[in-house]
Amino acid sequence: MNTLSTAPPDTELASALRLDVALNLLSQAGWQAPVSVTPGTVAWLQAIVDGLCDVSSRDALTGLANRRQFEAAINREVDRVARNGEPALLLVLDIDHFKKVNDTHGHAAGDEVIKAVALALQECVRPMDTVARIGGEEFAIILPNCPPAFGQTVAERIRKKIEGKPVAIIGGEALQVTASIGGAFAPQWVRSSAVLWSERADQQLYKAKAQGRNQTCLEMPPLTVVSAEEKGLLFASLTQSESNTTE
Ligand code: GH3
Ligand code: MG
Ligand code: MG
Repeated sequence: MNTLSTAPPDTELASALRLDVALNLLSQAGWQAPVSVTPGTVAWLQAIVDGLCDVSSRDALTGLANRRQFEAAINREVDRVARNGEPALLLVLDIDHFKKVNDTHGHAAGDEVIKAVALALQECVRPMDTVARIGGEEFAIILPNCPPAFGQTVAERIRKKIEGKPVAIIGGEALQVTASIGGAFAPQWVRSSAVLWSERADQQLYKAKAQGRNQTCLEMPPLTVVSAEEKGLLFASLTQSESNTTE
């Protein structure tokens, strides 16, 4: 029997389950239950759970994926690359001299710059890519199925978009900001780790900063030739380790 279909009115159910904190949090985040769901039903509870999942995986300032969602996405991608050998690119981006924006124009102006950069990033990528804010003025983009020949083009497109789009701040002034971008490809047909992949992209970002900022540095993947027989062996070892873990 579905006990919740005979549930009490929404206010009673909310207090019975102590949903007030969750509902307050969701309302602060601008969430509203879909009009199609009746309060007090299973569908209503499901909408609340979905809303909480969404809020806990997004960055509050920009609406981008937060660090938690980014980590889940990069781990999934490492897994996928090991299985299908598709090239995947990780870009890390840091706004240049951002402290100066805060110091000169105030924290609110800094926030506007962060939001504008987030929007620019979203405009430059495909729906399948994950754009995340992973720190104060630091972002990461996971680009699945990105051929190495396109990596530099994508990174440059992003850099130029930010450079060419001054940010309007309170008071009418327009600030021109730049960003440095580092990138690395996940090693194909190899089970690497998210940490190692991120470190390689970070090293390229440090290089872009050290070389003067407002530039992109990408580590190109080594040209390894993997035979069909070797790929078969990899799949065999993956299948073997899966069957071991399910035993
Ligand atoms: P670099 O070119 O080397 O990256 O220099 P930078 O000034 O950008 O780097 P730094 O790490 O010194 O400064 C980052 C600043 O970002 C410091 C911190 O106060 C600010 N910050 C972090 N989170 C936020 C935020 O959410 N909003 C605003 N406005 N500022 C933030
Ligand atoms: Mg930084
Ligand atoms: Mg910075």
